[in-house]
Amino acid sequence: MIRVLIVEDELHLAEGLRFNLEAEGYQVEVVETGEAALEKLQRGSAPFDLMVLDVMLPGKDGFTVMAEMRQAGQFIPTLILTARGHPEDVLRGFGAGADDYLTKPFDLAILMARLRGLLRRREWFLASVNSAPAPSPAPEAFTFGDKSVHFDRLELRVRDQVFPLTLMEANVLHYLIRHEGKPVSRKALLEEVWGLHEDTDTRAIDNFMVRLRRYIEEDPRRPRHLLTVRGVGYRFVAQPAQAAS
Ligand code: CA
Repeated sequence: MIRVLIVEDELHLAEGLRFNLEAEGYQVEVVETGEAALEKLQRGSAPFDLMVLDVMLPGKDGFTVMAEMRQAGQFIPTLILTARGHPEDVLRGFGAGADDYLTKPFDLAILMARLRGLLRRREWFLASVNSAPAPSPAPEAFTFGDKSVHFDRLELRVRDQVFPLTLMEANVLHYLIRHEGKPVSRKALLEEVWGLHEDTDTRAIDNFMVRLRRYIEEDPRRPRHLLTVRGVGYRFVAQPAQAAS
């Protein structure tokens, strides 16, 4: 049975979600604070398959909870559900490690579809990796230098180190790798990976890239793989020309 953790302090909303999710056959637990959610996930007696996370909560806000979870190695697929709908908020949510983001007021059918999508995303993701004209001969992994991205396991391996990736990080890497060697605009990333079509301050995406660089670059201040293309966006280079090794 699919287990869902709802983190929401508006109890009428939480109970409405519980009712509808249970009607779909999910098992639901509700907590009212981020602290309670972190504790529940830590104890992890019965793991959850999905989390729905509010942002404006008493105590720690949802962005902080999201970031702390990911830092602690907790990679449960998470949808942030919040009234905060500015593109900067959405990007902050994804930057903190969310897998999806929906703003209140929301359409229940859309929320349910998004949650089903999160559950299926791994399979879809693998399928898309398999069908895309990926530059790598191995469809579910891409190797560059001493690093390899394992899309099926959502892992980045650097020599003997393993970094778990969020779905969104994997999606961004996948997009960059598919366009290997070519400049990719911030706008294209926002539209095609994040699904944001609004007129966004696209510089906000740079925070996300800073995090990716910490994973894949030996010296994140002097990137060799994930390059900035001034005035455009980014360019991923699998094999830098002046490779030191
Ligand atoms: Ca709230």
